[in-house]
Amino acid sequence: MRCCERCFKDPEIKAIIRGNNTRGNCDFCHSNNVFICNLENNEYLKDNFESLLDVYTPIDEMEHTYPKEKADLIKNILCTQWSIFNLDTDAVYKFLVSLLPEKYSEQPTLFDNPIGISGTVDEEYMSRYSILGTYQWEDFVKEIKEKNRFHTNIINKDNLKTILLSTCKQYKAGSIFYRARICHDKQGFDEKDMGAPKAPNVSAGRANPEGISCLYLADSIDTTFHEIRAGVFDYVTIGTFRLLKDIEVINLAAIDKISPFQEIDCSLLAINLPHLRKIEYEISKPLRRHDSLLDYLPTQYISDYIKSIGFAGIEYKSTMCKLGVNFAIFNEKLFECIDTKSYDIDSLTYGYSGVE
Ligand SMILES: [Zn+2]
Repeated sequence: MRCCERCFKDPEIKAIIRGNNTRGNCDFCHSNNVFICNLENNEYLKDNFESLLDVYTPIDEMEHTYPKEKADLIKNILCTQWSIFNLDTDAVYKFLVSLLPEKYSEQPTLFDNPIGISGTVDEEYMSRYSILGTYQWEDFVKEIKEKNRFHTNIINKDNLKTILLSTCKQYKAGSIFYRARICHDKQGFDEKDMGAPKAPNVSAGRANPEGISCLYLADSIDTTFHEIRAGVFDYVTIGTFRLLKDIEVINLAAIDKISPFQEIDCSLLAINLPHLRKIEYEISKPLRRHDSLLDYLPTQYISDYIKSIGFAGIEYKSTMCKLGVNFAIFNEKLFECIDTKSYDIDSLTYGYSGVE
């Protein structure tokens, strides 16, 4: 059986299959003349999927009771919780059985019966491996909003750091980003007015607390137009920013899609996936007019921690502009505004849906 690079979303596996430099037809997604690899003699795929499957145990074989509602089949877990495959669940099942025939004959229940991570019902294991110990994201939100803001012990920073380092991304000096400001007239702003708001007149955002300056940038003019949320007939100035030195940011847009096939403990990643999805969702959630500033505390905490371990900023996806990417840069001096151009918002299109 042969799989191909199109069967996968995972960048590590795609690179390995491409590296084989063999073209042919895929038995799983049925693409033709694509980079393929033969499952029978690919030790890389066998070893990596075997390690990932070993994170899980059939719930009937666990020594303790595991909540049935949290158990699922391996094919479903790999499709819904991980960002590995571009295949449907039945094709994933076929792939696993074809890749690991010996494992299937030794332990068919791992492939065919509901499974779970046995450690997730063990307090000591969770304290050691989860970024939130035995707590859920909602407990952390309540703690930081209502109980202990600056010195909470809920977050296991060592585990958080290990995971964050897997989403580190480099940008080279000279990279170009954009920032928009709504202006009073068609003259707009010039370069010196386009930087981050200065302390103490800084309002809170998802990545910065009130009073602490942060430069919010976007990857394109289109993204920044969406993010600024100008009204019709507003004037908007777009500043073009050039990066002055090489930097590293933490890509929170990818934090719930980290490959288990890179240098990271699969178990650590597996038990933290629900928390990582929350972080990814919360950081990119649009600010609403009537939000309580307290709602930003959890993501401000994560962002502040990323700053404290030496990264230049965070990257997260735009929910206002499909495929757009935003950046929160902790030190605005890393960039210079090299150009501005002003625009008149002459029309707007509103989208809406009923509130559930
Ligand atoms: Zn394929």
